[in-house]
Amino acid sequence: MNFNKPSQVFIAGSWQEVSNGRSFDVFNPATGGLCTQVADASTEDAKLAIAAASGAKDSWAVLSHTKRSAFLLKAADIMAERQQDFIDALVEEGGSWIGKAMFETTYSIEALRTAAAMVFHMNGEVLPSEHGKVSMAIRQPLGVVSVISPWNFPLLLSVRGFAVAMAIGNTIVLKPSEETPLAGGLLLAEVFEAAQLPGGVFNVVTCSRAGVKDIGDEMISNPEVRGVSFTGSTAVGRHIAGLAGSLLKKVCVELGGKDALIVLDDADLDRAVNAATFGAFMHQGQICMSVERIIVHQAVADEFISRLLANVKTLGMGDPSSMSDVIGPLINRKQLQNVHEQVTDAVEKGAVLLTGGKFKNLFYEPTVLVDVRPDMKIFREETFGPVAAVTTVANMDEAIAMANDSEYGLSAGIITRDEERGMEVARRLQTGMAHINDSPVNDEAQVPFGGVRNSGMGRQNGKFSVEAFSELRWITLERGGRLYPPPFNE
Ligand code: NAD
Repeated sequence: MNFNKPSQVFIAGSWQEVSNGRSFDVFNPATGGLCTQVADASTEDAKLAIAAASGAKDSWAVLSHTKRSAFLLKAADIMAERQQDFIDALVEEGGSWIGKAMFETTYSIEALRTAAAMVFHMNGEVLPSEHGKVSMAIRQPLGVVSVISPWNFPLLLSVRGFAVAMAIGNTIVLKPSEETPLAGGLLLAEVFEAAQLPGGVFNVVTCSRAGVKDIGDEMISNPEVRGVSFTGSTAVGRHIAGLAGSLLKKVCVELGGKDALIVLDDADLDRAVNAATFGAFMHQGQICMSVERIIVHQAVADEFISRLLANVKTLGMGDPSSMSDVIGPLINRKQLQNVHEQVTDAVEKGAVLLTGGKFKNLFYEPTVLVDVRPDMKIFREETFGPVAAVTTVANMDEAIAMANDSEYGLSAGIITRDEERGMEVARRLQTGMAHINDSPVNDEAQVPFGGVRNSGMGRQNGKFSVEAFSELRWITLERGGRLYPPPFNE
């Protein structure tokens, strides 16, 4: 990768050497080779980044809407010019299939443009007043917002975390994942540097896994930080939400999932098979909304499974920079072990392995398991791997109960030809999002994205990010209509 700032982070508009001078290695999961070296910052650097963001927040918040918007539009244009660099980073450090990297970069450019428009949507309200006052609910930026993002869609999820928050007048400290520091943050810093964004509005700090708890805690508990956007695992998200909550700071946490795709007896099976294959295997199943459980009505189960199996067997595995190798590597060995342990546990408990179940280096074969039951780990725990786990049910009510039998509640898919049934199932599912006749894997820059239960708290994207990263205040203008009790008057 063409990145040669091995011990620098982006603070106050310039590249600064980290205080301990250290760097850490980032590996290419497909080849095992060294991808790049980046700065291993400490809490001292996080403090400096937060101080820079704090110093910039007042002038950024009062900059005219058109100027703030113009910076984001310019950044989007620069990112478009450098799209290939972002694609290369996603493939090399993240193991992204090139098609996914093309989608992610295009989406992120558009998300910056959508965010640029949000500067004009910091809407308040004029309220009725008992006393004839001018009574207003107005929105103001929070100030400094910390953003912590994961490795699976590092660019998209960093952009989702900060773009609208920044557009509406907050300043940002971003910490990308240690697995994907380039696409998740450092290349974005280069983009905003080239866009000549005022110093301190956007800061990026990178660190290895060893230092992340301390830096993370600083990014939440530092008194200058007023808002937090976290996307990642439920375990870390719970810690972050707990810390932010104890300090009464606004926090949005987008966490793990165990999403179900429900295939009803009247399903269009073309649609069901395609939604299942895409949902379970896109990016090797390493998407928070991946199809982690397929719950299929017994009347169509045999045909669905045989067609799914045939489709899965066509998926190529190998070099992610090749368009035909849609299955690339898992991100690391820990992740691979987790996937294999769940598959093994399922088979030991009676699930039938129809294909896959084997691995070489970090490449895990696309796997189809049937007869999956709720007592298996693979039914309950997030797998984050290329596995279609199929459970057969007798009717719609059982399908809903099975889907809701989870600690998670991010997204869901329901395949049925009857739109009314589809709506009923969607209403009864305990998830933040549900998609009828589609895979659970869906996102658009203007929709309320987020989960319930252990999948998170808060909604992001578009106007929902405006709500998440602004303070709603009540301001009144009294015009002589309010009378105080007589003893208080002159
Ligand atoms: P992770 O929780 O391990 O890491 C996420 C981020 O948090 C990384 O930047 C990491 O460095 C940082 N981090 C780790 N420990 C920390 C700590 N103690 N304090 C502060 N920061 C810390 O998650 P991951 O493995 O990078 O990502 C995969 C997980 O993310 C999966 O569970 C997936 O479902 C979830 N995810 C959720 C969404 C969503 O929108 N709901 C989207 C993508 C991924």
